[in-house]
Amino acid sequence: MTRVVIVGAGIVGAALADQLAARWGGEVVLIERSRPGWGTSRTSFGWLNANKKQPRAYFDFSVEAMRDWRRLAREFGEPSWYQPVGNLAWARSPQAREELVERVERLHAWGYGAEIITASRARELEPNLAIPSDAEIAFFPDEGYVCGCPAAQALVARATSRGAQLITGVEVRELVTSHSRVTGVCLANEERIAAETVVCCAGWRSPELLAPLGIDLPVVPASPRGSPAGALVVTIEGVTPRPARVIHAPELDVRPTGESRLLLEAEDIDVHVDMTSGDDHLDERAGELRRRAGMLVPAALSATIVEVSLCVRPLPLDGYPLLGPVCDHRGLYIAVTHSGITLAPALARHVALELLGTESPILRHYRPDRGGIAALAREQGTSGNR
Ligand SMILES: Cc1cc2nc3c(=O)[nH]c(=O)nc-3n(C[C@H](O)[C@H](O)[C@H](O)COP(=O)(O)OP(=O)(O)OC[C@H]3O[C@@H](n4cnc5c(N)ncnc54)[C@H](O)[C@@H]3O)c2cc1C
Repeated sequence: MTRVVIVGAGIVGAALADQLAARWGGEVVLIERSRPGWGTSRTSFGWLNANKKQPRAYFDFSVEAMRDWRRLAREFGEPSWYQPVGNLAWARSPQAREELVERVERLHAWGYGAEIITASRARELEPNLAIPSDAEIAFFPDEGYVCGCPAAQALVARATSRGAQLITGVEVRELVTSHSRVTGVCLANEERIAAETVVCCAGWRSPELLAPLGIDLPVVPASPRGSPAGALVVTIEGVTPRPARVIHAPELDVRPTGESRLLLEAEDIDVHVDMTSGDDHLDERAGELRRRAGMLVPAALSATIVEVSLCVRPLPLDGYPLLGPVCDHRGLYIAVTHSGITLAPALARHVALELLGTESPILRHYRPDRGGIAALAREQGTSGNR
């Protein structure tokens, strides 16, 4: 193998370029249509966790990735994009309380930091939150968040310092094939770049890149409305004091981002947006998220909305990563996943090893053409694996 082309410099492509550049003397070319980290990774909630991950193999993979982030943060001199601040979650309905307690018990038995705490302990941890006294509350001290955009940029910078080539501002228009082997890429400016292997890390845009090869990537479409792939993420500013941790309340997910800013998202609002949503519709939903934030964090009542992002999760039909080569398409490797902020460093390490010839027993579970993925999706749904 002499040249690998990676399409897409989100957190997945960036982490892979970093790993390949560190481990291999060949040529690594990373191509990004926009700027590194400016896709889904930029607007992601970025919660670093293995909290709801099942079965055990997927949980272990996520825990391994959390350990990798700790190692990376040390290597990068404890950067501000890595925040292992812990996660506080609570539930109020009988069913949600039961689920939370069961989850904490399971995680505890699996050796993961998880405990049920009292409301007064929660208020000690987060004095600037309105935490209901009657809630069931759990604390997950080893979780946190990663800001996907600066993290991807840091990884790309390290990869290029180790010899990887970065091409930005131009799209890969198509994958070039010869005798059913992928032999390179053709860019929107007509330039062709030959490669022994092309790795598709194009996130939610991967299906459109792969479709001309006859590959129907099993991911959830971003439309129609109600699709779990679409999401609305809102940033508010001027929240002082603000919570320090990741917060999962029944009506809102919140995490800090910068000094006086909070990132807001809510599952029941996500289902009301898709790629066709107009600005008025999005602004109305953003206002609702801010209203909920104000109920939770008193200082958010007077906050200003500074960013409203409509984003798309690269969400495989069964919720699990799509990682590996595809039958009948030599020269192509796919790396598309939800929970990509959490998984990126471990995923990239395993993918790099596979590209260099060592099959990963972990990635075996996640082949893009695994049997029954659509049937599994119908049985299990796709929630829970964020
Ligand atoms: C609202 C929301 C909340 C989330 N919450 C979490 C969470 O809490 N924890 C977690 O771990 N994960 C979470 N995720 C998922 C996570 O953000 C994604 O799995 C991850 O960002 C995917 O990274 P990526 O590099 O594959 O995709 P992207 O970041 O989208 O990167 C793909 C890149 O490829 C480029 N590209 C695409 N097509 C081409 C082309 N033809 N040519 C050149 N370049 C191309 C794009 O411009 C983009 O930069 C969330 C996602 C969303 C939307």
